[in-house]
Amino acid sequence: MIIPRKDKKVFSDFIIQRANMVKSQLKARGIQDQRVLDAMNTVPRHLFVPKDLRDQAYADSALPIGYDQTISQPYIVALMCEATAILPHDKVLEIGTGSGYQGAVLSQLSQEVYTIEIVSSLGKQARKILNELEYNNVQVKIGDGYSGWPEHAPYNVILITAATEKVPQPLIDQLALKGRLIVPLGSSLHQELVLFIKTEKGLKKESLGSVVFVPFQREGR
Ligand code: SAH
Repeated sequence: MIIPRKDKKVFSDFIIQRANMVKSQLKARGIQDQRVLDAMNTVPRHLFVPKDLRDQAYADSALPIGYDQTISQPYIVALMCEATAILPHDKVLEIGTGSGYQGAVLSQLSQEVYTIEIVSSLGKQARKILNELEYNNVQVKIGDGYSGWPEHAPYNVILITAATEKVPQPLIDQLALKGRLIVPLGSSLHQELVLFIKTEKGLKKESLGSVVFVPFQREGR
């Protein structure tokens, strides 16, 4: 494909902005996993945000994606990926596809990614862009992520990208032994990013600090 001259400039601008994001927002705050840094440096975040917000795509913040939902701040996406220590052979489940951006980042870290979105228009749009960009190892399901996706369980890693007071039991059940589950736990006003590790003796819990996420919704409630 021949890129017209004007688009070439814009394209290279985004590459520069993305490299700056990795350096000043991720490395500077302590993200060290080179695979995570490479993934964040590869995925074109500007194609996952609404067109009129593309110039802000690499800013240090969450951005609105419609339907009262947001694409998470780049640092939080990287932190969740680093904390769950995703390996290439891991099976990964994300609850809250949103824009599909985090799903695309996850697709660079593991060979099998499943993601569930409750807002059908968002799920469809995410599926479309993931297909267009040929992130073929990500499958999007539209529905309530509370029940997980039992057909593909167990998962080595589960990421919940909406805030909940309690981890849904079906998701704990679908986590493999030694699996990692990360979730913003708390009310709409105060949440903590929590990492759970499933051991033979139960769940081990570690807090990674305060965060702000949109609330976990339930279908038909
Ligand atoms: N990971 C996303 C950001 C997601 S914001 C990204 O990279 O863009 C959280 C998303 O979770 C929203 O899109 C919201 O609609 C979705 N969500 C909330 N409750 C849900 C549920 N019960 N099941 C599936 N998705 C849910």
